[in-house]
Amino acid sequence: MVKTPIYMDNHATTPCDPRVLDAMMPYFTTKFGNAASRNHSFGWEAEEAVDKARNQLASIINAKAKEIIFTSGATESDNLAIKGVVEFYKDKGNHVITCVTEHKAVLDSCRALERQGKATVTYLPVDKHGMVDPDDVRKAITDKTVLISIMYANNEIGTIHPIREIGRIAKEKEVIFHCDAVQAVGKIPVDVEKDGIDLLAMSGHKIYGPKGVGALYVRSKGPRVRLTPIIDGGGHERGMRSGTLNVTGIVGFGAACEIAAKELPEEARRLTELRNRLQAGLFERLDEIYLNGHPTERLPGNLNVSFAYVEGESLLMGINDVAVSSGSACTSATLEPSYVIRALGINEELAHSSIRFGLGRFNTADEVDYVADRVTREVKRLREMSPLYEMAKEGIDLKSVQWKA
Ligand SMILES: *Cc1c(COP(=O)(O)O)cnc(C)c1O
Repeated sequence: MVKTPIYMDNHATTPCDPRVLDAMMPYFTTKFGNAASRNHSFGWEAEEAVDKARNQLASIINAKAKEIIFTSGATESDNLAIKGVVEFYKDKGNHVITCVTEHKAVLDSCRALERQGKATVTYLPVDKHGMVDPDDVRKAITDKTVLISIMYANNEIGTIHPIREIGRIAKEKEVIFHCDAVQAVGKIPVDVEKDGIDLLAMSGHKIYGPKGVGALYVRSKGPRVRLTPIIDGGGHERGMRSGTLNVTGIVGFGAACEIAAKELPEEARRLTELRNRLQAGLFERLDEIYLNGHPTERLPGNLNVSFAYVEGESLLMGINDVAVSSGSACTSATLEPSYVIRALGINEELAHSSIRFGLGRFNTADEVDYVADRVTREVKRLREMSPLYEMAKEGIDLKSVQWKA
């Protein structure tokens, strides 16, 4: 028997690895110094711990320690990258290129700049697998373009964008390239040099570290990227992000990076296997189900599936001992299908019936089998109550039916 509830929503957040917590503990108690206190050992001890973490973060993306700016999370990192570049380079241009399936931290930062009249933004479409075409990036660049912001891997459908190609185009056209790599770092190899990335956002709690700590990589050479800060204060973090450092969180984030880097190949292999097992378990037993996202260029732990004739929300309620996520977001009063799923061009019904499974470090094969079984039975039960599913099975073309009010 598996223990319930089962957590399978690791794109939303991950549990803190016990090894990460162990590393953090002393910094809550005896080692409580302020990393900016330059005149006593408490401060030096904290500073040393932060330096170590800075190296651990830099190492996992092949950057230099001094290029890492600590923030409160990736939302802040994305804001700082986008708003910071647009403000600093305003005399050079005001055009930003991004993509419709980006995280809200990127999209809403762009929208805010548009609203304030500080930028014009091109939102590139994606193909049916959720992938942006590098040629579209190239074509969108004008002499006013100051920033390209494309995520490494999508948090809903797991699709991995052709980042290296986009990085090459950005270099060739001399445009700064920001990449929200929150879902990629620690899960798949990320290398700011080989990938041609100039700014990169990452987050602690998506890689088995604590919540409330993130980082922005800022390239120091070839080109040296400049930013206008969005938080002013004591000039911490090379003046780009003031505020007393969250030493405990930073120590945990560093430890999480070191573990992730070391275990990446094995963990990616294991999660791919588990994900494929879950996928097979569902696809072999159910008809009318569809994979959302790229069939191969996808994060190891990601599985996003639409179950036709089943409301995602109803399915979630029916499997309440399994924590997964539906493609619909309850915004105010209405239930809107996810903008990411909609961007794939699939119809509204299928968009409403999507479920995201996010496998992580602590999931087991037994849990996968339990979830596959639980979901299969619930989908069958819901479909038994669905007249539409019955009609479709009888060969009636639902599009031809004249519905009466
Ligand atoms: C979670 C997430 C963020 C936001 O990170 P926080 O640290 O929670 O602010 C940004 N981008 C992506 C792709 C994410 O998955």
